[in-house]
Amino acid sequence: MSVSVALRLPSLDSLLRHPACQPLHERYGREALLACLRQLLDDLRGAVLAGQLAAVEIGPEALAGRAGERLAQQQRSHVRRVFNLTGTVLHTNLGRALLPEAAIDAVHMAARYPLNLEFDLASGKRGDRDDLIEGLIRELTGAEAVTVVNNNAAAVLLTLNSLGVRKEGIISRGELIEIGGAFRIPDIMARAGVRLHEVGTTNRTHARDYEAAISPRSGLIMRVHASNYSIEGFTARVPTAELAELAHRHGLPLLEDLGSGSLLDLTRWGLPAEPTVRQALLDGADIVTFSGDKLLGGPQAGLIVGRKDLIARIKKNPLKRALRVDKLTLAALEAVLGLYRDPDRLAERLPSLRLLTRPQADILAQAERLQPELARALGEPWHVSAITALGMIGSGSQPVARLPSAALCLRPHVSKRLRGRCLLDLEAALRGLPIPVLGRIDDDALWLDLRQLDDEAAWLAQLPHLQVNP
Ligand SMILES: *Cc1c(COP(=O)(O)O)cnc(C)c1O
Repeated sequence: MSVSVALRLPSLDSLLRHPACQPLHERYGREALLACLRQLLDDLRGAVLAGQLAAVEIGPEALAGRAGERLAQQQRSHVRRVFNLTGTVLHTNLGRALLPEAAIDAVHMAARYPLNLEFDLASGKRGDRDDLIEGLIRELTGAEAVTVVNNNAAAVLLTLNSLGVRKEGIISRGELIEIGGAFRIPDIMARAGVRLHEVGTTNRTHARDYEAAISPRSGLIMRVHASNYSIEGFTARVPTAELAELAHRHGLPLLEDLGSGSLLDLTRWGLPAEPTVRQALLDGADIVTFSGDKLLGGPQAGLIVGRKDLIARIKKNPLKRALRVDKLTLAALEAVLGLYRDPDRLAERLPSLRLLTRPQADILAQAERLQPELARALGEPWHVSAITALGMIGSGSQPVARLPSAALCLRPHVSKRLRGRCLLDLEAALRGLPIPVLGRIDDDALWLDLRQLDDEAAWLAQLPHLQVNP
């Protein structure tokens, strides 16, 4: 007859005092260690009773090891750096624009020291945070005044509410767009208290359509840049200058939501043309709204620029206080705007522009350099090639334009039936790396677009951690 001796877990108290747990105590503190050990013992009790664990597995050293892993996991920050190799440069889910060094320095300063956020150093009186960037905005866009809020969605909401509440907002049916997530022009209008008056059709809207909609109930005319889709073929759209003239003839302001809002003509760098803020104002838009972290290449922010009297009304709206930006954003924004004063060196200094303008030949050469390394790390079952690919700007800028780029293209040597599963496994393994690597699956392959791979050394250093079982 065999007698089985039931194993017993150490007590919480003895474990806490055990030398193996002392480094954990020091590193994470008593509270966290205690909670972790209690949970660990609870989790193991069932397995111990069922006789599934050996004595060494529940000794103090082994338990301290497990607790250490759990604590390290818990301690790890949830905000993590990743490699964006998706091919989309301004990726909303991956934080959009990367800040230039000058902006990073400004954020450090603003985080570390008191600053003149709302204090006028010349007069010693209370100041206005928008004044910190007003001079630059006037110089760079020709606007009379500016106010800054949390993002462009907030800019649109605040402007509509300030200028059109309880009145009608006239807008073309072709511009009633939805931007990723939950930003839909008709919904924002409703929340802003503006009654939507849609005119024209999806593909064609004429000046006479706007004209016919104007009545004593009208509050404003709105134009929205159709950021993330394009209407082609039999189309008609009233030029901004003509629409502005029409609006002003009836005493209405013209509001233009530019979305990505470029400050300079991007064709100078060989990029697709995008309307500039200056041009929209020159054409007669009274207020222009745009994002800080799309083509501008700065921090998340929404800029509202235009006529001084209208900006003053917008600033008086109590919602402005609810939507305002913080000191870190303003510090970064000022530094980014400052770079625009020297357009000749902008592409060197502003990461988003530098990445958007990286020549395809450079990216392809990088792909060819890295191809053998990745092929070695993945081993026999994967075919790795360095080839040209097409990326995009992202964040609703130029949805149909493609950026000629290059990528590492990974294909599993397995039957077609198994390919999808294999690609998902590889994708998960790449996400599991210390600095997660994000690519995209397309055409039965996993693509790593290298346009944004700046830190090649860090990327290479983690290849040995890559574990995939095809
Ligand atoms: C992106 C975009 C918005 C929203 O801007 P966020 O800065 O993301 O809030 C609004 N309107 C247009 C036309 C856009 O392209």
